Amino acid sequence: MITSIGYLITSVLFILGIMFLRSPATARLGNTLSALGMAVAIIATLLSGSIQRWDLIIIGFVLGAIIGYVAAMRVAMTAMPQMVAIFNGMGGGAAALVAINEILKALEAGTLTNLAAIGTGLLTVFIGSFSFAGSGLAFAKLQELIHGRPITFPLQKPLNAVIFLGLVILGIWAVATQAVNPTILTVFTLIALLLGFLVVLPIGGADMPVVISLLNAMTGLAAATTGFLLLNNVLIVAGALVGASGTILTLLMSRAMNRSVSNILFGAFGKLQVGETADIDKTVRSTTPEDVAALLKYAEKVIIVPGFGLAVARAQREVQELAQKLIDNGVDVRFAIHPVAGRMPGHMNVLLAEANVPYDLLYPMEAINSEFASTDVALVIGANDVVNPAARLDPGSPIYGMPILNVDQAKQVVVLKRGMNPGFAGIENMLFYNPKTLMLFGDARESVQKVLRALDEV
Ligand code: NDP
Repeated sequence: MITSIGYLITSVLFILGIMFLRSPATARLGNTLSALGMAVAIIATLLSGSIQRWDLIIIGFVLGAIIGYVAAMRVAMTAMPQMVAIFNGMGGGAAALVAINEILKALEAGTLTNLAAIGTGLLTVFIGSFSFAGSGLAFAKLQELIHGRPITFPLQKPLNAVIFLGLVILGIWAVATQAVNPTILTVFTLIALLLGFLVVLPIGGADMPVVISLLNAMTGLAAATTGFLLLNNVLIVAGALVGASGTILTLLMSRAMNRSVSNILFGAFGKLQVGETADIDKTVRSTTPEDVAALLKYAEKVIIVPGFGLAVARAQREVQELAQKLIDNGVDVRFAIHPVAGRMPGHMNVLLAEANVPYDLLYPMEAINSEFASTDVALVIGANDVVNPAARLDPGSPIYGMPILNVDQAKQVVVLKRGMNPGFAGIENMLFYNPKTLMLFGDARESVQKVLRALDEV
């Protein structure tokens, strides 16, 4: 009874948690409620009277808590996608192991006769193992343990299709004939692991956050099917929430890049370093912090466009200081937030919130794009792909059609970055050669500090 009530409370807390996570202003509360829900679920399970090995539970709890705490405290904002990947993989792996254990237990007891239970068990093993292997590879790519470019080979897609079909046939046959035994289960698991690995192999680093979100949805599904297997309601609710939110996030991200999910999964995007742009004048106009300070001081309207480089440089506090100083000088300052700026959805919102930039200064792309034409200075800080006009102007570009921030429509553009390196998509950006663009080279944080000092002297 206590356990059921605990699970009910957990389900409500999870649903409220997700609801509050929808806005940056309430995200912290959403996170706390979800964590509280998890704590209630753990306590309810421990009180259920079904724990047989407390020693194992305690060892798992202590190890898990230490690893989770240290990882969360130490992770850099820019490394968040790989942390989500590895945690997600653990979830998938755990779901698969629970299902394998349930199948083996039922085999031993001779009770593996329910076709639905065998089917659910195998489905969980498949999704969980796939997600485990795929997430592990995604982690390795993002952590640069292996290079992040797409790895392709001839007949890759047909091979994956054949393996997938083979797995489905094996699964259906095993369910229909009730022929599941430890050998078949091992083969089935190994093939599912191989498939997860092979499907992620040709996906490039830039698409990895989308893939991680998709794998996350799969892990949610695996948790839900485990819930059906164990007749555990809270697992079903939590799994369904993760599955649904992961799917929605995947669709939102792919829409923001103007790509289909199948193009992301099978397109091997980022394989070619595409830089063969038209024969245009490639003169770069570099500038100084003093000139940028003067431009900003005498501007009436400035839009700051943060990107991945701002996160790398950890320049958010300096940028907040700069914005405040300009506002104090009477400048109309806004921040333009592209939905896929950085390396994960909401990346820029989180960074700027950390530096106490008020939410009402942050404008999503749809709301701010019409404002650039009346803007004196668009200050691009560590952003590249999300301001690349090729997405609007060059039908041959791999990012053609991706909605971008129209900074090139501002009267003057200032770009802060270290050199002429491309962004995550690996393509050249003509914005940097635009006659109205000034490049302030250097680490974004140091550059903003210099501009701040220069502002005091103008
Ligand atoms: P980009 O990855 O396009 O560009 C970042 C730029 O920052 C680089 O060109 C780099 O140039 C510069 N930079 C790196 N370090 C520093 C530093 N210390 N100081 C100053 N500049 C620095 O970033 P965007 O935010 O514009 O675009 C995000 C990309 O990630 C898009 O391609 C998007 O599709 C992709 N993506 C995003 C997801 C999300 O959810 N946010 C999900 C999946 C993909 P240099 O080395 O010359 O300094």
